[in-house]
Amino acid sequence: MFRIHIGSITEQGLNLDQREDAAALPLLAAVAGDGVVSFIRPIHVHIHATLAGETVMISGRAGSEVRMPCGRCLEPFDMKIQTDFSGTAVPEDPCAIDPAAEDDIELTADDMDVIVYSGDSIDLADEIAQQIIMALPFRPLCRDSCKGLCNRCGANLNQTSCQCQRQDESSPFAVLKAHTFPKKQE
Ligand SMILES: [Zn+2]
Ligand SMILES: [Zn+2]
Repeated sequence: MFRIHIGSITEQGLNLDQREDAAALPLLAAVAGDGVVSFIRPIHVHIHATLAGETVMISGRAGSEVRMPCGRCLEPFDMKIQTDFSGTAVPEDPCAIDPAAEDDIELTADDMDVIVYSGDSIDLADEIAQQIIMALPFRPLCRDSCKGLCNRCGANLNQTSCQCQRQDESSPFAVLKAHTFPKKQE
């Protein structure tokens, strides 16, 4: 699953087309586990990899379709997500790395675009899962024109109109106006 075998990268490079259920990727399973976002299609990945010595240059595209609640009206809706990524994979093997250069690699290994691999294959599962997570909208909208919920009665204003006075909602003093203060008894 989302793994590149170094030995299969030819001079022309390697093209991979892979699918994996989100549940099989621990980071995405964790995201889906809170019940807010669900992946309704497998994660689909195209990867192109080329080799330069022991360094592997990777570029690709990952996509899926998710169901998540609208940030305004809270209704679940389906949305395609797609993200392009690129990175460089370097071997972990300390023998292959100049000790002076090793520090530099450790510093940059936290960057999204440097992947450290060991052995004869590169595991891209976490990398791809992170790309998918970053492609999720911070404030998803079911449509740009979503009217959201009435902040007084909670009605979904896409489906119905309520009796609340809409113009009052824009005023910060609306709450005060609606409130009847008890009269002091003398
Ligand atoms: Zn909405
Ligand atoms: Zn209302």
